[in-house]
Amino acid sequence: MIAGHYLNEGQYDLRQLNTDEIWQALSTLFTTRSRNSTSYKYGFFKAILDNLYNVDADLVLTFDQLFGKFAEIYWNLVTKYKVKQMPGEKTSAVETVLTAFVEKYHIAEGVPFESFTDEQKIQLAQRVKNKCKHNVVGALYGDTGQIFYSFSKQGEWIRFNPQVYQYVCRRKTALEKLNYYEWAKYLEKINTAETTLNLLTKLDESAKRSNLEVYRQILFDEFESRECFYCGRRLKNDGIQVDHFIPWAFIKDDKLWNMVLACPTCNNKKRDKLAPESFLNKLVIRNQDIRLHYYNDSVTKVHKGADVRGAEEMRNYRKEGLLSIYTYAQENGYNELWHPMRLV
Ligand SMILES: [Zn+2]
Repeated sequence: MIAGHYLNEGQYDLRQLNTDEIWQALSTLFTTRSRNSTSYKYGFFKAILDNLYNVDADLVLTFDQLFGKFAEIYWNLVTKYKVKQMPGEKTSAVETVLTAFVEKYHIAEGVPFESFTDEQKIQLAQRVKNKCKHNVVGALYGDTGQIFYSFSKQGEWIRFNPQVYQYVCRRKTALEKLNYYEWAKYLEKINTAETTLNLLTKLDESAKRSNLEVYRQILFDEFESRECFYCGRRLKNDGIQVDHFIPWAFIKDDKLWNMVLACPTCNNKKRDKLAPESFLNKLVIRNQDIRLHYYNDSVTKVHKGADVRGAEEMRNYRKEGLLSIYTYAQENGYNELWHPMRLV
């Protein structure tokens, strides 16, 4: 196995791989053969899984996307839940960056990542990226046998090997659980029993936002979605809920193209289920309208407020991507369909 963290760039192996070879390469991450002085590889693998559906048409993710998530995951684990990432008195680079950030902005104890201003989020992600990109990106490339992705530290991107990308998408939930298991085992060794209480939930929800208000603002105010996406009932001001069309439990990310407004009844009953394909088609049409609104080629628009976020999140949106995520969700066990009660 090569020590990939020295590399400035890497190209994934171009040969045809069979599923055994792919599995062998990925599972090495979870064995003692791969270096394990901090929890980085688990955190970075989670940042990849959580960003899996944010790739562009060439399967590229930027370091900003990856380390934005990485920063969020570690912020919540380290400062919100106080989970140490290295044994003894040692501190990892990411913990040093986080501590300096707390001091600089006088951030109160236990503040979750989602309460930061956009400016603070960008600041923190930049610092974490600059500090951690050297150790993390090449190391995971080496640990997975140089088949997972190509990368460039200078260009600040990774590009997935399409064969491995598809393999990972089809087994996302199982790989995610395996990653949590090994990560938790590592963290339990260096933390107190009190800190590691409910550790698996803490890991699973380390990048979960509870405030989805921005999507209500965009969809209700900007796009005038005034009816429940599922049952068609008119939404009342005090009963507008934001629903992840593909369940959050699968996708682990908040993006406008996956958000719909629903009445409390539908939102509570749907939970982690998928809606039938007719609603998928409805969402495709809705997203087409939103994308056109933000990216009308003939006009250069300046976006303000919540729309900056909306425009950014629609940038890489593709209809084909959404359709395959729906299939991937089913392949990963989200195959129970929920049907809303139709209004007569
Ligand atoms: Zn409804």
